[in-house]
Amino acid sequence: MKGKQASAPVVIAGGGMVGSALALSLARAGVPVCVLEPRPAQPLPDDAPYELRCSAISPASIRLLQAVGVWDSIRQQRVSPYRHMRVWDSESPARLAFSAAEMGLGELGWIIENRRIQSALWQALGFCPGVETRQSPLAQWENRDGGLLVTLEDGSQLWTPLLVGADGRQSRVREQAGIPLRVHPYAQQALVAVVETEKPHEHTAWQRFLPTGPLAFLPLADGSSSIVWSLDDAEAENVRALEEADFNAALTAALDARLGRCRRISPLAAFPLQMQRAGAFIGPRLALVGDAAHVVHPLAGQGVNLGFLDAAALAEVLVEALRRGEDMGDARVLNRYQRWRKADTLITQEFMTVLQRLFGSRHPLLAGLRGAGMQLVDKTVLKKAFAWHVAGQSDDHPRLCRGQALEPLRGQVA
Ligand SMILES: Cc1cc2nc3c(=O)[nH]c(=O)nc-3n(C[C@H](O)[C@H](O)[C@H](O)COP(=O)(O)OP(=O)(O)OC[C@H]3O[C@@H](n4cnc5c(N)ncnc54)[C@H](O)[C@@H]3O)c2cc1C
Repeated sequence: MKGKQASAPVVIAGGGMVGSALALSLARAGVPVCVLEPRPAQPLPDDAPYELRCSAISPASIRLLQAVGVWDSIRQQRVSPYRHMRVWDSESPARLAFSAAEMGLGELGWIIENRRIQSALWQALGFCPGVETRQSPLAQWENRDGGLLVTLEDGSQLWTPLLVGADGRQSRVREQAGIPLRVHPYAQQALVAVVETEKPHEHTAWQRFLPTGPLAFLPLADGSSSIVWSLDDAEAENVRALEEADFNAALTAALDARLGRCRRISPLAAFPLQMQRAGAFIGPRLALVGDAAHVVHPLAGQGVNLGFLDAAALAEVLVEALRRGEDMGDARVLNRYQRWRKADTLITQEFMTVLQRLFGSRHPLLAGLRGAGMQLVDKTVLKKAFAWHVAGQSDDHPRLCRGQALEPLRGQVA
């Protein structure tokens, strides 16, 4: 306790998927945390219609969810494994196919409603020793007594040696810290909906690249599919304005009728797409994780998977620092986290941008190039490297994402 204020060794602004996973990772290793989340996710009844926001979750992220003790409860509720991935191009014969079996995996990943993950994590926080949650947003902070004095919108205050911004793409933590943001607008929107298809999805993630943007069908447990249809802004508006029957026909054609006739069975939502990258993932006594640090194009389903890697890496760095008797908010400690995560994120983001540009063009030269490129990947060792990347397998991953626990600290962390 500093002065009259309450204190916490780590304050995490944002209890979405990434902030909550970080909080549980730290608390389970013996580091007390306080999570600020104004809109905690409520559990989803089993008979509720599917949520529009679903994510392809990699095996590495699943290992993190296992490590923090929420995977068993999540997997009981209508999650869907995908064991194959089929990618093809509308403008060339290029195609790529992956299967979990050829990689020696049970599955390439799982399709899960975001709210299922968020609410399972949030519920677990409620039972985890060392976790305090507050349902008020962070308002601001100032330097005080060698740490930060954080003020919440409800007027309460907390002193902490380390503030983590897990507060999403419009991060207040990032903005107030004055960390510059690089933005690359894709001039596209992602249309999301749940659809029924005439043919079974075969537990396959289907993705067709069209000049107007990629279209993904992600398999859901009841046989329906969650679609992410990225379209140039004007085209997205046209598609949104279509009558139901015309929308269904357009969607069927956009997937080249690969799954037969498609029928939308949910509302349609649209998300504007842009790449975002914070100029730094750390600042004085603060760190950014998840969308607060980086936003990627959803075409390869990497956004929250990158965020989970951030959470696992930051937890590992902080727990190791405490074990060595270091100050968690020290720049040298935070730099270890930044070095670890910034390069990986940069590579993934640039790769997504190149793919988006390469496949978003009708230019015959680019069509030829991507055709040749995809055939090359499909026939060579590059395929395995690409598939392992998509499945989130890497020796450089944090321990929690490789199925190894963080050894809990002995003694009290003040
Ligand atoms: C169409 C679409 C499809 C996608 N598909 C995939 C996919 O298949 N796979 C994948 O890996 N990723 C996918 N993503 C990306 C993924 O959804 C995001 O990366 C992920 O939701 C980010 O999680 P987060 O916890 O970092 O941020 P958020 O989910 O934005 O959570 C931030 C939290 O912070 C809280 N908050 C905000 N301000 C404050 C404040 N001042 N104080 C305290 N709390 C605050 C908010 O209430 C919120 O709960 C997709 C994205 C889109 C748009």
